[in-house]
Amino acid sequence: MRKQVIAGNWKMNKTHTEAEDFAQTVKNDLPAAEQVESVICAPFPFLQKLVEVTKDTPLEIGAQNMHYEEKGAFTGEVSPVMLKELGVTYVVIGHSERREIFKETDEEVNKKVHAAFEHGLTPIVCVGETLEQREANKTMEHVEGQVKEALEGLNQQQASKVIIAYEPIWAIGTGRTASAEQANEVCTHIRKALQEKYNGDVAEAVRIQYGGSVKPANVDELLSQSDIDGALVGGASLEAASFLKLVEAGK
Ligand code: PGA
Repeated sequence: MRKQVIAGNWKMNKTHTEAEDFAQTVKNDLPAAEQVESVICAPFPFLQKLVEVTKDTPLEIGAQNMHYEEKGAFTGEVSPVMLKELGVTYVVIGHSERREIFKETDEEVNKKVHAAFEHGLTPIVCVGETLEQREANKTMEHVEGQVKEALEGLNQQQASKVIIAYEPIWAIGTGRTASAEQANEVCTHIRKALQEKYNGDVAEAVRIQYGGSVKPANVDELLSQSDIDGALVGGASLEAASFLKLVEAGK
């Protein structure tokens, strides 16, 4: 049985005070980490405080991006060493906003995934198709390609620890969710691709989240699908009460 993992992706939202208040509010009400993994992926300036406030609680803290190099002349970037030192445990890699707005390539995503493992961070690797690709029946081919390129060169042990977030781009922040069946169909295809690339054990171990307008009203149906093992949530993760409901659903 795969443990569900519910991750909030705050994107570029909240003030420092709001971030701390959120953590103080949820930290004692979350289910135990043995039942469901809960993660908040926050902007860099809040990470240290969030790690401090959530110490010895079930809530894990993640970053939303990082560079793949350990250090050097990369103005404005943050390295995996810096995140690790803060006590961050997860990192979102290749979110569609990074790919689209900041032109991140599959090759960079792959380098970041390797860097995450070198530094003991769990990568949440995002994949997903545009509306155009879906309408042209290119969803499976596109998503499978993204997964294979992101994981290229990982050994079996690493591959089995990757979290993949399937996020159809047309469903992100639009209020338009993929139906549970649509979402599961793609997640099943991803698992099949993992079986081909690695083996059945790896395919069975990898957690595949769905993301794209997940909210308390639709989370149960999505999480009940055979190949969906959690959710990556933007908008509905910003409010403490809503985030708690989502994590509860993952139990
Ligand atoms: P949303 O964002 O839940 O606001 O659609 C999801 C995401 O971008 O990870």
